[in-house]
Amino acid sequence: MTYKNFTVDTDAEGIALVTWDMPGRSMNVFTEEAMRELEAIIDTVAAQAGIKGAVITSGKDSFSGGADLSMLQAFLGDFAKARKKNPEAAAKTLFERAGEMSRVWRKLETCGKPWVAAINGTCMGGAFELALSCHGRVAADGDGVKLALPEVKVGIFPGAGGTQRVPRLADTQAALQMLTSGQTLTPQRAKAMGLIHEVAEPDQLIAAAKAMIRNGLKPVAPWDEKGFKLPGGPVYSAAGANLWPPAIAILRRETYCNYPAATAILKCVYEGLLVPFDTAQKIEQRYFTEIMQTKEAAAMIRSLFVSLQELNKGARRPHGVAPTSFKKIGVIGAGFMGAGIAYVTAKAGIPVVLIDRDIPAAEKGKMHSEALMTDQVKKGRATAAEKDALLSLITPTDDYSQLDGADLVIEAVFEDSAVKKAATEKAEAALKPSAIFASNTSTIPITSLAKNSARPKNFIGIHFFSPVDKMNLVEVILGKKTSEKALAVAMDYVRAIKKTPIVVNDTRGFFVNRCVLRYMSEAYKMLGEGVPAAMIENAAKAAGMPVGPLALTDETAVDLAQKIMHQTVRDLGEGAVDPEQMKLIDTMVDQHQRFGRKNGKGFYDYPAKPAKKKLWPGLKELYPQKRPEDVDFEELKLRLLAVIALEAVRVMEEGIVTDPREADVGSILAFGFAPYTGGVLSYIDGIGAARFMEIAKKLQKKYGKEFKAPKLLAEMAASGETFYQRFDPYAKEKQAA
Ligand code: NAD
Repeated sequence: MTYKNFTVDTDAEGIALVTWDMPGRSMNVFTEEAMRELEAIIDTVAAQAGIKGAVITSGKDSFSGGADLSMLQAFLGDFAKARKKNPEAAAKTLFERAGEMSRVWRKLETCGKPWVAAINGTCMGGAFELALSCHGRVAADGDGVKLALPEVKVGIFPGAGGTQRVPRLADTQAALQMLTSGQTLTPQRAKAMGLIHEVAEPDQLIAAAKAMIRNGLKPVAPWDEKGFKLPGGPVYSAAGANLWPPAIAILRRETYCNYPAATAILKCVYEGLLVPFDTAQKIEQRYFTEIMQTKEAAAMIRSLFVSLQELNKGARRPHGVAPTSFKKIGVIGAGFMGAGIAYVTAKAGIPVVLIDRDIPAAEKGKMHSEALMTDQVKKGRATAAEKDALLSLITPTDDYSQLDGADLVIEAVFEDSAVKKAATEKAEAALKPSAIFASNTSTIPITSLAKNSARPKNFIGIHFFSPVDKMNLVEVILGKKTSEKALAVAMDYVRAIKKTPIVVNDTRGFFVNRCVLRYMSEAYKMLGEGVPAAMIENAAKAAGMPVGPLALTDETAVDLAQKIMHQTVRDLGEGAVDPEQMKLIDTMVDQHQRFGRKNGKGFYDYPAKPAKKKLWPGLKELYPQKRPEDVDFEELKLRLLAVIALEAVRVMEEGIVTDPREADVGSILAFGFAPYTGGVLSYIDGIGAARFMEIAKKLQKKYGKEFKAPKLLAEMAASGETFYQRFDPYAKEKQAA
């Protein structure tokens, strides 16, 4: 029999080699067709007397990425529609679909012939669950081989037996950690945990897998044998009593129960380990059906998988402009940001000319790459040769004429219009006319900087976040005259350095900083109300933010907050900044020299390591303190998220961001906006515009104009629209279809 996605070659010994190699795709994923074919192969292997057993591997570099989440998203969309018509029938279909993969993997596991997974490369999600249902597992030894069940990261969980097989193979604690974090394992780690049997040299992989069958591998899973014992001991045992209460506490500490999928994993494992395997699978199927219906799953799949991928592939890149292949890129200003930009550019294999006012300053910038690569080599993540290769791509200089031939220049000199003007003029004198000039400014409008350029069409903003090597978001800022070509080149560059671009129209603070400043300033307001600082920070974390607003101010520097406030007053007048908040920040900086983490004193004190940072006790002296029991903690959480979300609505209303995917993905990548919500706009969509409008009104009455709902929200509340309906990112494609 022939298949579209698999080939089956049975050798002289009767061992079938099943090679998964989907045509027209760079990676194998589970589609309905692939599932149907694989089930047919399982049936054939079981039925044919001449076949002794089977080895399954992949014909691609990776084994498989698992389920096709875009298909799952489409399916969930159909389910939501079907539920409106006939909830019971829709739920039944969903339940059956939720158990489909489990059913096939269980069929493989109990087919009576031995199966071995030969994992030649990255093996994720449903594909790793397939491997776990095989009787033997061998993984190739190599950097590119990563094993994981990462579903929890997009709001779902491994629902094809993953929550049952992992804790039956590995110690319960290690299993829980792996499942609830979505952690990636090396083959060695997976072997140590008991999840795979062997690690083989890549060219010996198939031979090792076949040898397992030849050596009499039993076609029975351990849990189907009499007398099977759980590696971590039963739930009701001394070991279980030591494990479960802290496990629940740890989950609450890590997630604040904001992630229903993570909670469901704990329930699946706990309940599943109390019963035989087939019953356990039913338990898993029920929870999986429940989780697939949560708004968290829908929002996270959309933002953290579908939209993220689309933006990374250049969804917002203008069509019809030929792709750029970069031969040389200039970076002007080798300071904190410029040094980081040079590093990520060289890491992408692009030669960089790194310019500063003098050679020592430029060389200091290059040293940043040297330090980062030395660290990578130490940790075994890069070789000495890779370090040398990267460093050889960076040319530190003070000579602008070296920019000759560059396709793109990124300016990261001081945040001063006059200094930026001089740098632009000097660079343009050396650049070819078609080169694109980008500024990394964080506050000066691109349109005004473009006035310094003889070629404003070629002028654009490429706004990085610090630390550049870690932060994956880049805002691409359009000036009034920026051309499509400049946008395309900027997008090609961001793609080349493997970061995610969002396209933003010119405005003070662009998108990210506008939102972040609201978050921090709401916290200053709370301090002024006498809310204990610890409650503010904890409320932020409980709401799902990775860093509290006061800690974030310390990271970015309290004196920077002061500078921004004073500059805003100079530009926009006294009313633009709350005087109470200004007083707080002035007091912190001018009276107490509390600049933030950089001088070890900010809203927190930073004692020498290993001691941990602690909130500065002096904060209590600044305002009469409310008693914790007099503070509405849930309202603090709501205020911190709502104040950001409302700013994002204003940004959409003003046309600064035009695509909801960018606001959502941008908010999660830049400042970690409560990922379970799917981002700033999905947060509102999840609550519903009308209800959110009511919330905003109430908060405005109590806490002021920051919560005033924009007209856009009122319109959406009236029409019942969501952001993804009102600003449908796929409208053009739909029209064309
Ligand atoms: P920095 O002070 O660390 O670095 C600026 C560098 O520019 C210095 O090395 C300086 O010697 C050099 N320089 C000054 N004039 C020059 C000239 N005429 N020619 C060549 N080099 C010159 O500053 P930074 O924090 O790296 O910020 C640089 C830019 O990036 C600013 O526009 C800033 O607003 C923006 N930015 C900063 C951050 C951040 O977190 N620091 C984030 C995003 C954007």
